[in-house]
Amino acid sequence: MEIKNAYLLDLLKRTEQRNAGEPEFIQAVTEVFATLEPVIEKRQDLVDAGVLERIVEPERQIIFRVPWVDDKGVSHVNRGFRVQFNSAIGPYKGGIRLHPSVNLNIIKFLGFEQTFKNSLTTLPMGGGKGGSDFDPKGKSDNEIMNFCQSFVNELYRHIGADLDVPAGDIGTGAREIGYMFGQYKRLRNEWVGVFTGKGLNYGGSLARKQATGYGLCYFTNEMLQANGTSFHGKTVLVSGSGNVAIYACEKATSYGAKVVAMSDSNGYIYDKNGIDLDAVKQIKEVERKRIKEYLNYHKDAEYHEGCKGIWTIPCDIALPCATQNEIDGESAKILVKNGCKVVSEGANMPSTPEAIDTYLSNGLLYGPAKAANAGGVATSGLEMTQNSMRLSWTFEEVDEKLHGIMKSIFKACDEASTEYGMKGNYMAGANIAGFLKVAEAMKAQGNV
Ligand code: NDP
Repeated sequence: MEIKNAYLLDLLKRTEQRNAGEPEFIQAVTEVFATLEPVIEKRQDLVDAGVLERIVEPERQIIFRVPWVDDKGVSHVNRGFRVQFNSAIGPYKGGIRLHPSVNLNIIKFLGFEQTFKNSLTTLPMGGGKGGSDFDPKGKSDNEIMNFCQSFVNELYRHIGADLDVPAGDIGTGAREIGYMFGQYKRLRNEWVGVFTGKGLNYGGSLARKQATGYGLCYFTNEMLQANGTSFHGKTVLVSGSGNVAIYACEKATSYGAKVVAMSDSNGYIYDKNGIDLDAVKQIKEVERKRIKEYLNYHKDAEYHEGCKGIWTIPCDIALPCATQNEIDGESAKILVKNGCKVVSEGANMPSTPEAIDTYLSNGLLYGPAKAANAGGVATSGLEMTQNSMRLSWTFEEVDEKLHGIMKSIFKACDEASTEYGMKGNYMAGANIAGFLKVAEAMKAQGNV
């Protein structure tokens, strides 16, 4: 990924200086800039309106103390974040990540990506992201509740149904959203759809749980069909074993593919007979245990320590669904050598720039995260709509809308890549289509 345009190079340099020590944020900005060159050359009006300078600077960044007390009475302090990146096309919208690796840099990279992703969904949602360096692993329900309540004791002043609507992400599932929503409702004394990913009996949407994984496979299926192939009979690797990974595995299997491996942050399992997803759901969704427990269900499967090894298993299609930069240049080369033809991203920014260069130079079909995993936030948008209408749609209605949105996202990426002379480069297509909608809105609203 090389940038030649002098204006973009200069702006990238200024962005690096202003955000020193934030490598993932700079990585995300660089990837977008690298594909915007033909747009910038055509659209001097957007340069003159300062759209690019503004789009890399979050509208607001909130950092706060989150004190909480564990079950032994010991007090702890974590750091909370909410970055409200861009509200040009709608209220800020984006998940809350709870993981020890969370810092401002990680939240900014995610918020920046979210702005373009939300634009692609066709729904009116701006970009935001939040989180904390709190580690939910090994904590009791009571400790999780104490943390979530303390987190919302500050966050509640900055969010609202028409202002900023958080959702789940790594470490934040239905349990955490429930505690956060409950605390918000208590503090504000109002019932509004201020979080998405809520439980089904208090305003949640059917199919939200499945949406990111299913949406990833809907997008991938469109990409495969447009290139004369399909999931049927293909061998698939899915990294992670959380929300996105589980439902990607389910939908890929229903399309006739065989998923042979999944992972967590400790290691990966390989089951040449195809992953038994009921066992994975029992281990991860019910018992909250480690993926190696899979061997208790299938003694002939293999477990290997370390998560990178999953990419050494021969496959046709790789669906990274764990975390950022999980496929580096070396893993990408091994995937290619072993015959992998497709990489489509469930996680946010799971491929390093070197990995992406390897996919593109070897002619792989590459579904970039901000398009391929947009089904989650799109369905969150549908949850907001249902809350505003005081209605609940059936699973089939939501799933059908999600499917339609993923088809239109693929179409937008395909058309933009063709229009700007990079046909088949869906990363360029996603960045350009996502950018243009936000950029036009920012220009129309003046220099704010
Ligand atoms: P979960 O917390 O449900 O699952 C995350 C999975 O990834 C777990 O298996 C976890 O293993 C693994 N993982 C997390 N961090 C690391 C790491 N540093 N190294 C290796 N493995 C890791 O999260 P989600 O499934 O919700 O999110 C997965 C990805 O998808 C993230 O990038 C997220 O931003 C993205 N995403 C999620 C959406 C959603 O709707 N949930 C929407 C769009 C994108 P372990 O249990 O050991 O930590």
